[in-house]
Amino acid sequence: MSEEKNTDRYTKETQLIYGKAHSMKWDYDHHVVPPITSSATYRLDSAQRGAQGFIEFAHTTKETKNKQPILIYDRLGEPNKDILEENLAYAEGGESAVSFACGMAAISGILGVLTKSGDDIIAHRTMYGCTYSLLTNWYPRLNISVQLLNLHDLDMLHSAIRQETRVIYFESPVNPTLTLLDIGAIASLVRQINETRSEEERIHIVVDNTFATPYCQRPLELGADFVVHSLTKGIGGFGTDMGGVVIGPEKHRDMLLLYRKDFGGVLSPKAAWPVLVYGLPTLSLRVQRQIETTMKIARFLETHPKVKAVSYPGLPSFPQYELAQKQMYNYEGAFAPGTLMYFTLKSDSPQDSRDKGEALINTIADNAYAITLAVSLGHTRTLIEHPGSMTHSAIPAEEQVQRGMDPGGIRLSVGIERAEDIIQDLEEGLARI
Ligand SMILES: *Cc1c(COP(=O)(O)O)cnc(C)c1O
Repeated sequence: MSEEKNTDRYTKETQLIYGKAHSMKWDYDHHVVPPITSSATYRLDSAQRGAQGFIEFAHTTKETKNKQPILIYDRLGEPNKDILEENLAYAEGGESAVSFACGMAAISGILGVLTKSGDDIIAHRTMYGCTYSLLTNWYPRLNISVQLLNLHDLDMLHSAIRQETRVIYFESPVNPTLTLLDIGAIASLVRQINETRSEEERIHIVVDNTFATPYCQRPLELGADFVVHSLTKGIGGFGTDMGGVVIGPEKHRDMLLLYRKDFGGVLSPKAAWPVLVYGLPTLSLRVQRQIETTMKIARFLETHPKVKAVSYPGLPSFPQYELAQKQMYNYEGAFAPGTLMYFTLKSDSPQDSRDKGEALINTIADNAYAITLAVSLGHTRTLIEHPGSMTHSAIPAEEQVQRGMDPGGIRLSVGIERAEDIIQDLEEGLARI
């Protein structure tokens, strides 16, 4: 392998294509892209080397970091996901990354490592439906309490923090309403409280950055401790495979690896490979194009007579436009308001709103070419869905309204098609309802 190259003088966009110039994880020097690996178990050569492998696993030291790992068994570690993890940490500006089978495995992984029976988690009250279900259905069974709060209200957050609180968890932009939480402000409040606490009692901030992708927002730079992503979404980008990742301080890496070893939830190398070879290298290209298109669609919808409101952080009418400009920026520092929007239709009542939203989605499902009715997001194809009855159906309908969700609210995840084609499909759909 060639000498370590100084990659710092290259832009992040180029670094996303190449990753680390020199990885200790695997010697594939004569392949231009890392080959796909497919081996559940590894030859250990001698009992001594096998034993050494088990000693070194999840035992990060300066020494183990700078030598090739002894590969033992896929669930512990293997080249494709090990290299992907290095590149994901790089993309997010974090020290270390641990991959998981999907976003939910990553979320339960980091919460599993940071909490135990008797602890308390505070989360923003609006979030992805399965995360809501994890927090409200499963953690109480483990004697972990969960407080769902409006984290826009920092005074309320301050007074809700208990001695047992270990995690503050949220998404920004929030799924599906696209409202933002002020990552820097929450981090500075938590930093103050942590100054009075021992290391074991520290509160950690975990941000689900799936909506923004690291191209648009890097919460670690803003003071968060951990970032989680569903790699199934914007980072994977092509919608072919599921994956998840936790990115954060090196000192937690070993615990995350041990957790993943024992609870399972391992990312398959066959799912890690497309993220490594297609997803990350095209991230900036895709997201740049998607942002431009999202902006055009948001402007079109905002002026449409049948549309009540459009929530997109890139619109000057967005209530938190200033905050958006402060915390959503790309690697070059330019405003990067993301690739998703949430909009509502004019209606006479909540039921009418829901009926109209469903009618629009159904006519698009029947007639559109450049928009697909499907959950998921961050895809090359534009996807439309109704969060109230789909991705967020785990949240009871009355609570959805309390949490800022409109009964007829529609989520649009913009793909890489040309803007005019998507707008044409929306225009025709709106004309039919
Ligand atoms: C999809 C999604 C998840 C869950 O990810 P999976 O890969 O489907 O497990 C978590 N958070 C957000 C914001 C998501 O959109």
